[in-house]
Amino acid sequence: MSSSFQVILRVALPLPLPRLFDYLAPDADPAGPHWIGRRVRVPFGHGEQAGVVVSTGPAESLALDLKPILSSPDSEPLLSNELLESLRWTARYYHAPLGEVLAAALPAALRAGGVLPETCAYCWELTATGHEALAGLRRDSSTRRLAERLQAGAIGEDRLDIEFDSWRTAARALAKRSLVERMQVQLRGEAPRADPGAPEPTLAQREALAALRAGAGFRALLLEGVTGSGKTEVYLQAIRDCLAAGRQALILVPEIGLTPQTLSRFRARLGVPVHALHSGLADGARARAWSAMWRGEGRVLVGTRSAVFTPLPEAGLIVIDEEHDNSYKQQDGVRYHARDLALVRAKALDIPVLLGSATPSLETLHNALSGRYQHVRLGQRAGGAQPPGVRVIDVRKRALSHGLSKDLLDAIEQCLARGEQALVFKNRRGYAPVLLCHDCGWSAHCKRCDSPMTVHGAGRTLICHHCGARGTRPLSCPDCASLALQPQGFGTERLEEALAARFPDATLIRVDRETTRHRDAIEKHLAALGNKPGILVGTQILAKGHDLPRLTLVGVVGVDEGLFSADFRAGEKLAQLLIQVAGRAGRANLPGQVLLQTHHPEHPLLNTLLAGGYPAVAALALAEREAAGFPPYAHLALLRAEALLESDVHIFLRDAHALLVPTTGLETSAPMPAPMARRAGRARGQLLLSARQRPALQSALNAWVPQIYGLKSARKVRWSLDVDPVDLY
Ligand code: ADP
Ligand code: ZN
Ligand code: ZN
Repeated sequence: MSSSFQVILRVALPLPLPRLFDYLAPDADPAGPHWIGRRVRVPFGHGEQAGVVVSTGPAESLALDLKPILSSPDSEPLLSNELLESLRWTARYYHAPLGEVLAAALPAALRAGGVLPETCAYCWELTATGHEALAGLRRDSSTRRLAERLQAGAIGEDRLDIEFDSWRTAARALAKRSLVERMQVQLRGEAPRADPGAPEPTLAQREALAALRAGAGFRALLLEGVTGSGKTEVYLQAIRDCLAAGRQALILVPEIGLTPQTLSRFRARLGVPVHALHSGLADGARARAWSAMWRGEGRVLVGTRSAVFTPLPEAGLIVIDEEHDNSYKQQDGVRYHARDLALVRAKALDIPVLLGSATPSLETLHNALSGRYQHVRLGQRAGGAQPPGVRVIDVRKRALSHGLSKDLLDAIEQCLARGEQALVFKNRRGYAPVLLCHDCGWSAHCKRCDSPMTVHGAGRTLICHHCGARGTRPLSCPDCASLALQPQGFGTERLEEALAARFPDATLIRVDRETTRHRDAIEKHLAALGNKPGILVGTQILAKGHDLPRLTLVGVVGVDEGLFSADFRAGEKLAQLLIQVAGRAGRANLPGQVLLQTHHPEHPLLNTLLAGGYPAVAALALAEREAAGFPPYAHLALLRAEALLESDVHIFLRDAHALLVPTTGLETSAPMPAPMARRAGRARGQLLLSARQRPALQSALNAWVPQIYGLKSARKVRWSLDVDPVDLY
């Protein structure tokens, strides 16, 4: 049995329960504060669980029936005080069990208890024999090329990966003859190489850099500038400053923005290895990137949402690119927002955080306008590129050819004739959004969702975009037996078909979720197009990230769905998307043009956007949100529930609602069906809480959420709480 001075280890386990679990430290190991932040395996029920020790306490008499932990893969804390504190903050703020937050924060391989993988960086160097033998190597061979490249000095493996396709084979061949040597790189605190690629910063860029260089400590800086205005250039120079000071930098990018193009630009300019962390990596590679940062060997990490949880023992800077992007919000499990957590961590680490966007979220803009964040606007495009001209095409009462106006088709024709590229943007994949009976008005609906089926495969297949259900298109109307079933509206597939018919000689490439299932697919598509004249047709996947110097025309085919959405963020999102897409045109020295087709040219959002750009739309939207009591002037939390039976959802929400204690400053909606009341065969409902002041909302949630776990009716539903939801669906 345990001796009297043993301490209790409080362990967070990845279970949907808002509590910790107590264990004893093993007898052999003197317990102490060094246990905090270490992973442990513990007996649990009839099996075992992997968790993390988050606190310790003195043994009390209770300790007699506690079990000791089984083992720990860590001899020292895996989670630093700062990281653990930030994760605790996450658990408190999002009202999620700490064990689940920890599970979300750790790469899968480490979560399961694996040891920290090897992460040393290596470089290759020509030996003295190698230098002598170089001239004797066969000309034009890969071994000769590699040896010549190494003549000036050692080169890191990540660098070689970029420059040579098959350098490893060549290196092995040379190593066999002792002509080259592989060596471990000592990176800690190494100053970056000179950066010959750096342009002279503009005035605005200098202002941003000066704001970051002024003194030490936490501050937030919003860098607002259209695509091509030089934001990335500011990131690069700020990161170089950070590296030169011997500190680590973390760069968060949207899911879609982490392209090989982005990584190679960072690698080429920073002169140190750049680690990447994203969902496309294998478990081992993710654990390696995480561990490299943990050890301090990794100096720069570029990653998507979950990279916000990376250890930064020598933190110097956090950058959030495209800070308005919705992929920063986790939409299931622990529903955190990586941008908000980046600010929490920057504060805890006492380092600057740089938020960049052409179209800042209203939350961030509000913080900037109220003086909490510094704000630098990058005016024009850097390097002399002109902003594109935007023209609205009123398509009311005009004949459209397969959804395309004559003006747009003419513009595409001229663009191709000039040898340039056009982008036709439609934010709907598939052939057509609806299949309609022309005689009786029947339309194809998903049996399991409150939603129409999308027509795919040139009109032959029906797919539900919400649950994935598939069916073949009926030959006749199930209601009236008419044969007049017609696809209504246009998706990217149908536009592709129409454009191929109209421009049979042009290279035509469709880019949407269908055609880009693999991570590198977009690169392959764009490489196939190259600098040839051609047409890209696609969804928002095409809106960002890729530099297309020959793209001079952007046609936006129909934004009307977005103009009349019930979602309170719809206007903001539409304006962001339009600016982003428009930003694709004319990035290099060629002037760009944007044509916007709409049935609602008089819509205030379009007018404001054209007259005053994003800042004007944002000002309008902020005023509306303030009047209506929506974020950033109010704070929301949404309780969602779903179940096979609608009555189970209803009873649960009613019970949860009854537990709410009326508090001043807190407003609660009655339980109601979700905007999509059935999805994938399950009934869905929700309950909205809102408060003008964040503390009022948080204290209500503190009292409420633990009680929800105890509800009997909670066992019959899947429920989740979303603090700061990005949409109310
Ligand atoms: P963003 O990140 O805002 O899209 P980038 O930083 O990628 O903009 O800059 C767009 C282009 O302008 C790049 O080719 C970049 O090299 C160039 N550029 C950026 N800053 C300058 C500058 N101060 N002088 C000249 N060219 C610049
Ligand atoms: Zn019919
Ligand atoms: Zn469905």
